[in-house]
Amino acid sequence: MTNRLLSYVCDNWVEGEGDLAQLVNPTTEEVLAETTTGGIDFGAALAHARDVGGPALRDMTFAERGKLLQAMASEIHKFREELVDLAIANGGNTRGDAKFDIDGATGTLSWYAKLGEKLGDRKILVDGESSQLTRSPKLVGQHIYQPLTGAAVFINAFNFPAWGFGEKAATAILAGMPVVTKPATSTAVVAYRIAELLADACLMPKGTMTFLCGSAGDMLDHLNSQDVVAFTGSSDTGAMIRSHAAVVRNNTRVNVEADSLNAAVLGADVEHGSDTYEMFLREVAKDVTQKAGQKCTAIRRVFVPEGLVAQVREDLADRIAETKVGDPGLSEVRMGPLATARQLRDVKAGVDRLRSTCEVVLGDGGRGSLVGVDGEKGFFLSPMLLVAPSLDCAEVHGFEVFGPVATILPYATGGADSTKALIDAIRMGGGGLVSSIYTDDVEIARAFVTGAGPYHGRLTIGGEKVAEHSPGPGAVLPMMVHGGPGRAGGGEELGGLRGVTHFMQRTAVQGYSPLLEKLWA
Ligand code: NAP
Repeated sequence: MTNRLLSYVCDNWVEGEGDLAQLVNPTTEEVLAETTTGGIDFGAALAHARDVGGPALRDMTFAERGKLLQAMASEIHKFREELVDLAIANGGNTRGDAKFDIDGATGTLSWYAKLGEKLGDRKILVDGESSQLTRSPKLVGQHIYQPLTGAAVFINAFNFPAWGFGEKAATAILAGMPVVTKPATSTAVVAYRIAELLADACLMPKGTMTFLCGSAGDMLDHLNSQDVVAFTGSSDTGAMIRSHAAVVRNNTRVNVEADSLNAAVLGADVEHGSDTYEMFLREVAKDVTQKAGQKCTAIRRVFVPEGLVAQVREDLADRIAETKVGDPGLSEVRMGPLATARQLRDVKAGVDRLRSTCEVVLGDGGRGSLVGVDGEKGFFLSPMLLVAPSLDCAEVHGFEVFGPVATILPYATGGADSTKALIDAIRMGGGGLVSSIYTDDVEIARAFVTGAGPYHGRLTIGGEKVAEHSPGPGAVLPMMVHGGPGRAGGGEELGGLRGVTHFMQRTAVQGYSPLLEKLWA
């Protein structure tokens, strides 16, 4: 029997009405569950979060909120195996993909739990040193942060149903804001089970968690100036949310994490077969195939010195071709299907655009040979590697193909002009989440950091000294910021305390120095 998913609104599970969206197993195309948010009063849901959950969290110290985050992480971790199975079924994740998502969620919650413990028994964050404002040392000014009094509204993408919730909830709850979370409908089963686990465990104070399973309905109409929207998804949806009338009218704070044409650069100093070269191959191949390339941080553009292109295309194609694609529930399989029929259609259309100018080195746009899959069911695409005819090939820099696809771009080496051409080409991505360079040369690294830095939220520098220690550029870590300018949405999450302050108001307070100190002692 098909499972009917509910929403958790005003501390109760409610069943939506009307047309149902179907959640599908992307390997078998079997319908796993159905859901709708039809008939749900989104205004009342937000009001309950603000009026009941907000005061409860603001009454807690950072240390107490940290304890709550740790309890959430532990509860989710207890059910890790069940969640892995659900991610395989509804997300087409391999076991490794599923752990990346679920452990990413619990790891981030735990990391912020420790930060809460460090911040201690306080409710106000002091920002920097106080400043003397006049000749008298009695009058000072101090910036402080306090939680906004609205709801933290999360709208998440389909690819990380666990981590997407966990990373946003960790920062919002530590800040002191109640959470209203809406996963992407197509892969909501994992997020749904997490919400169920947290509700059943009665860990969270009343009103601090609202879970909406299905369309966002008219929720945006009810946003006010104290709410924060944290959105992850496509640029088009991000732009729609940002320009929504209620958001514009109320200047509601919106953080957008969107598309990204992440680059990996093989430095001109790197020799074939060196540790740095091997690291580069390993990390690019991993990014093409992990989660079937449906990672916002996945490498899409691979910049290679002209003289090494022939070697790299052969080595990379061999490495990627080793990946067993098929039924993600089988232990030997390393890449499953794309998450939805729409995803498969969009990725194939993107590949066709790339193929109009680029040479295909690996893959033919079909399913390839699959392990453990009979017949034509499932949204499979064999990984693809292409080579662009030139560094400035507009198709490669112009749009994101959100699947197991990467393109090699040749670049000239030697001299300032070629360095500038490389940096200009990286910048043609229009702003990204993360890009990486593989080099052991400080001047090459410097040119990359100064040239690509302003266009990115994060950079990674791979080299022989860190080859054995790198999680790869695709791993988003709680202590480092996640987000990027331009195409990437212009947002920023995580980054330790920085991510917490997105859910707080900074206020400059001026007054008598000893009195001020007592306020946030
Ligand atoms: P999407 O179609 O934009 O959907 C994202 C979320 O927005 C879903 O929860 C969706 O709900 C919701 N949504 C759609 N229309 C809405 C509306 N009118 N009002 C309110 N919410 C609305 O993106 P996606 O296909 O799930 O994700 C793929 C994209 O996300 C890729 O482009 C990828 O680059 C990007 N991404 C970025 C990051 C990052 O951190 N920067 C991470 C992961 C993915 P429904 O599912 O109910 O339609």
